[in-house]
Amino acid sequence: MRAYAVIENGKPLQEITLPTPEPEGTEVLLEVTHCGVCHSDIHIWEGKYDLGGGKTLSLADRGVTLPLAMGHEIVGRVVKLGPGAHGKGIVVGGQYVVFPWVGCGACPACLAEEDNYCPKMRAIGVHRHGGYATHVIAPEPRHLISCEGVEPALAATYACSGITVYSAINKVMPLPADEPIVLFGAGGLGLAAIAVLRAMGHRRIVSVDVAEAKRAAALAEGASEAVDGSGEPDAVAARILAATGGPVAAAIDLVGAGPTAKAGVAILRKGGSYVIVGLYGGELTLPLPTTVMRALVVRGSHVGNPKELRALMDLARAGRLKPIPVATEPLSHADAVLTRLRQGRIVGRVVLENSGSF
Ligand SMILES: [Zn+2]
Ligand SMILES: [Zn+2]
Repeated sequence: MRAYAVIENGKPLQEITLPTPEPEGTEVLLEVTHCGVCHSDIHIWEGKYDLGGGKTLSLADRGVTLPLAMGHEIVGRVVKLGPGAHGKGIVVGGQYVVFPWVGCGACPACLAEEDNYCPKMRAIGVHRHGGYATHVIAPEPRHLISCEGVEPALAATYACSGITVYSAINKVMPLPADEPIVLFGAGGLGLAAIAVLRAMGHRRIVSVDVAEAKRAAALAEGASEAVDGSGEPDAVAARILAATGGPVAAAIDLVGAGPTAKAGVAILRKGGSYVIVGLYGGELTLPLPTTVMRALVVRGSHVGNPKELRALMDLARAGRLKPIPVATEPLSHADAVLTRLRQGRIVGRVVLENSGSF
């Protein structure tokens, strides 16, 4: 197989040839048809996350080895099943979206299909070769979800941004359709969250962003209200409460910065949930007695699990999920697309397409 791989952190991706893997055990070999280029690929390519305050998180310390074909938003056609993958409903030639946040396969979390809670997560495109390649291995049939009835380039994005917002929303549901849900951030994730909430039939969606153009985009996407998120957290919280008419049951923070966290907790009603998704960085200080008395829930949400990807694909298949704008480019443009993403020159999502001539 051929891959566009990170050979050295921060250096251009290189086209390399690797042995096409033979699926063993429960593994499934797919030919990649589509692979999204995600913002987190920039961090993987750099080999580190900036934690702020001069601290960095090294991905080499987290088990990431080079060369690596990145790409975790993968759709492919099944080429071959491992001996243990038969009889699980996977069809050779069928097109599937690949759940990339795979775990060890053996621990209680993995057995409960909550791979994203596995202490030994071995994500596709992060810890093992991903979709910037002609072929990819899925460890188990349960990590494959049929693309039937869903545009494959769009389905690819559901493996990361889609599942991330779906899983966060899942953590505050069920709520009545007219109960306000506050979303901090109206960028890509924020708009995806609005689309998912609308698909679930939710009506009261309050989007908060500092940029007027993004607030307008949120309203166009189906938010019921858009609130200016600029200024001190207390002022932002007061503006949100004026829009919602009082404290809320749920706030989902797709920014994940100190000020959004402070505002997010301040607006909660008794028993309310603040779910943090964004990785902007910062800290949150909470007074303990009032956290008890207000019975608050503060929780992080990281990607999602295969059950959630299946549910999201069902929503898409039912035609209820509004598509996000997706542009496609040939797989051979992987490095150029990544460069443009890094330079902030990409609007919406770009999905690489493997036409076979790669
Ligand atoms: Zn991603
Ligand atoms: Zn596990």
